[in-house]
Amino acid sequence: MAWETGIYSCGHDGREQFYGKRKEREYAVKKHFERLCPECWKAERDKKAADDAEKNKAAALPPLVGSDKQIPWAESIRAKVTGKEDFIFALQNTSAKWWIDHRDNLEGISDYAIFMERMKYTDELVKKQVLPIPEKPLSLDGMSKFEMVNFINDYIDKNRTDKVVLEKSNPVPF
Ligand SMILES: [Zn+2]
Repeated sequence: MAWETGIYSCGHDGREQFYGKRKEREYAVKKHFERLCPECWKAERDKKAADDAEKNKAAALPPLVGSDKQIPWAESIRAKVTGKEDFIFALQNTSAKWWIDHRDNLEGISDYAIFMERMKYTDELVKKQVLPIPEKPLSLDGMSKFEMVNFINDYIDKNRTDKVVLEKSNPVPF
């Protein structure tokens, strides 16, 4: 273990503790100081979050609900899929926590993935006998993924025999 001093890429100097053998330490030190210093890194992250929040607002996305710490983080996660065709439905989700929970699997929240998840959920409700089997096959022809998800949600809402109270902060039930 040793303390090393160096100059970060932003020009600020710093002092940091490193572990391991000398060779490994030298490499780690080099890598470490190639980055921005912690203050500049935070400033950059905050600026990006503010820009992302602007972008999301400009795209007419609904405001996020969550803590002061969660919201800027979630804005940056949400901005990665803002404007993408397969995420129109998912982008209506206003829970900052939900975005943070799904940050490593944004593909899994595409409208198609949500639709498939909804279909699975529909099957479960049918098995539990709280949702009747449709009298005729549901026709989803010509619908966008966004419309399909809405359609299936409406179907569940209208037909299930047990009523659930949806979380108020999140109008999109998935
Ligand atoms: Zn700096």
